[in-house]
Amino acid sequence: MIRQQYEPFRSRLLAWYADHARQLPWRNAADPYYVWVSEIMLQQTTVQTVQGYFDRFIKAFPTIQALAEAEPDTVNRLWEGLGYYRRCTLLHKAARFIAAQYGGVFPDDYQTVRQLPGIGRYTAGAVLSIAFDQRFPILEANTLRLHARLLALRGDIRRGKANENLWKFAEAILPASGSGKINQALMDLGSIICTPKKPQCTACPAAAFCQSAKQGLQELIPEAPPKETTEYRIEAAFLIRKKKKVLLIRYPEGVRWAGLWDFPRTEAGVRLPLELPHDLTLQKKIAEMTGRKILPGRLIASCKHSVTKYRITLFFCEGLDAGKSGSPLYETRWVTAEELQQLPMNSTARKLAQTAVLML
Ligand code: SF4
Repeated sequence: MIRQQYEPFRSRLLAWYADHARQLPWRNAADPYYVWVSEIMLQQTTVQTVQGYFDRFIKAFPTIQALAEAEPDTVNRLWEGLGYYRRCTLLHKAARFIAAQYGGVFPDDYQTVRQLPGIGRYTAGAVLSIAFDQRFPILEANTLRLHARLLALRGDIRRGKANENLWKFAEAILPASGSGKINQALMDLGSIICTPKKPQCTACPAAAFCQSAKQGLQELIPEAPPKETTEYRIEAAFLIRKKKKVLLIRYPEGVRWAGLWDFPRTEAGVRLPLELPHDLTLQKKIAEMTGRKILPGRLIASCKHSVTKYRITLFFCEGLDAGKSGSPLYETRWVTAEELQQLPMNSTARKLAQTAVLML
């Protein structure tokens, strides 16, 4: 495609952006570290939620070097509540790699950036275009929707040929220089005007170029992907106490919540907490996890929560420690109430910890 043909589109977009750009903390300086951290945090998470986390994170780790030198528990604790914890683990890993290989300076070469843990096509494009003014496209939730509407593209735009066509379009509309600004303007336009529901076409600087607006398809594009079937499950977590301490496990690499701490927890094969003492499979799994024989006791609390397609009912029960049963698969630690507050946990474990602290 010829870049010139998009000049009128870019001019209107930039004129709109001059008046409507979102004021975001990571935009104050085009520091690749800030852009990188913010883009990782923004994956699957709203701008409103990210702002507070970003400020606290940068205050604690003002440079890549500072992040690299921090302990994983400290980094994970600051991430706590943001979810998708693998993002944090990979961010930390990448910081350590940059510190070791590049003296703490974020690389400015696309291939090198793509080798870093946790950095995909989108994040590489965002950092290189915004911080280094290199001509790389981006495609995240807002621009995916915006571009699909501009082109009136039907079908599943998240994968396959349609997705590849959107990447090509995102690249074609970029100017020879100033791609970072265009990319940010596109993200803001998607976020503020071309919203998932009821896009404000009458206020849109791209309306004259938009195929969906011309054909009245803006409410139908993008087409919703088929919904995943909901699955219901019961889990049990155990409060195991000894001399004012409580037993925790740390999730290992490769499993959900890797690096975070939790009360020994697993899926149950029964429907009622009263039946847990008869669930021998559950007791075996807890024994493998902790290396200890744990006998289910009384119910302390229960809660419901969702993780992706799962609707989980969680029973929080007392667990009686009946001694060693073998080598634990997971790292375990007996912790005080104070340590319980400091260690990084997922959000349900944090709620259970608040109850546990009162019982120590
Ligand atoms: S005209 Fe409407 S549908 Fe098209 S890009 Fe603008 S807000 Fe989105």
